[in-house]
Amino acid sequence: MLPSAFVRSFTRCARRYTTEAASTPKKSSNLPFYLLGAGAAGIGGYWYLENRSTHAEVKQEKSPLDPENFKDFKLKRIIPYNHNTSTFVFELPENQASLLPVASCLVARSSDPEALTDAKGKPIIRPYTPISPPDLKGELVLLVKRYENGNKSKYIHSLKVGDTLALKGPILKFPYKANEFNEVALIGGGSGITPLYQVVDHALADKSNTTKFKLLFSNVTENDILMREELDALKKKYPNNFEIVYLVDKPGPNWTGPSGYITSDIIKKHVAPAYLGNKVKVFVCGPPGQVAALAGKKNGKEQGELGGILKELGYSQDQVFKF
Ligand SMILES: Cc1cc2nc3c(=O)[nH]c(=O)nc-3n(C[C@H](O)[C@H](O)[C@H](O)COP(=O)(O)OP(=O)(O)OC[C@H]3O[C@@H](n4cnc5c(N)ncnc54)[C@H](O)[C@@H]3O)c2cc1C
Repeated sequence: MLPSAFVRSFTRCARRYTTEAASTPKKSSNLPFYLLGAGAAGIGGYWYLENRSTHAEVKQEKSPLDPENFKDFKLKRIIPYNHNTSTFVFELPENQASLLPVASCLVARSSDPEALTDAKGKPIIRPYTPISPPDLKGELVLLVKRYENGNKSKYIHSLKVGDTLALKGPILKFPYKANEFNEVALIGGGSGITPLYQVVDHALADKSNTTKFKLLFSNVTENDILMREELDALKKKYPNNFEIVYLVDKPGPNWTGPSGYITSDIIKKHVAPAYLGNKVKVFVCGPPGQVAALAGKKNGKEQGELGGILKELGYSQDQVFKF
């Protein structure tokens, strides 16, 4: 079961719709992690944030996920989030936790590999980052934005409760270590928030955390801002360590924040300067055009050369990580 307040935090949206119904570790290990005191079971929403400090103990040697093989997971619940995005809650067997390391994602494929293929007949596979914490028992939650011309996102949105999706992982993106940096900037747009949220949610829940996080999050309109409630709740709970700047391209009449793209001036104003060296890290995740403008193009799964605004501002390749 999802914690009641998580469900509550989504009922706002759910009421408006007819509801119901994302360097791979070694195979042999299959994630022999013990997550001790990493946070209580719960996800997003106020219940989770308020109860993390109860520090439930998860003693579980293996993740139900497999980094080498796709495994089917049953869709338990679909909760519409906004006009193009829904929350998909998958069941983890035997009430296990995912134990995904932070920061990591999963890759998704259709359970029947032939159900969704590309022009060459190969199964279409895309990465998704769970928004549920690694120690949430029994459930794994994906927030998926639907692209009208998209392959996988449309497929996931076509699933019904009881259907399965094949997931493989974790795909380790960046091994986050508590207090490695004094300041972390999280810069992104749209559904790029999910990896950034995974990092900040995990980091702030650690009582020893001293790192300060600044989120610069841009969207087309205010209605497109994903995870806003959860982000605002984190900011409220950790006011000294978390700042958020929301930007929208098309501001409504009541919008008081900045509008337009994330510019050099906005980064200079909010992000720790490059001269702090290895004490500052900038995580970037957004649509390919935004990533290219901010930090240079990714090169497939490789980071690609640093470019864009961050390079102009003097940040080095090592200071920037593109999801
Ligand atoms: C590390 C990582 C984690 C991710 N986590 C999530 C997540 O948690 N939730 C989520 O919804 N998505 C996430 N994504 C994006 C996801 O992997 C897919 O790219 C997205 O769902 C579109 O796939 P598609 O097959 O539907 O579209 P495609 O068939 O690949 O593309 C169709 C159209 O959509 C455009 N498009 C593709 N991807 C994007 C994008 N990201 N932003 C803007 N336009 C795009 C293309 O330009 C094209 O016009 C993540 C991506 C990465 C790299």
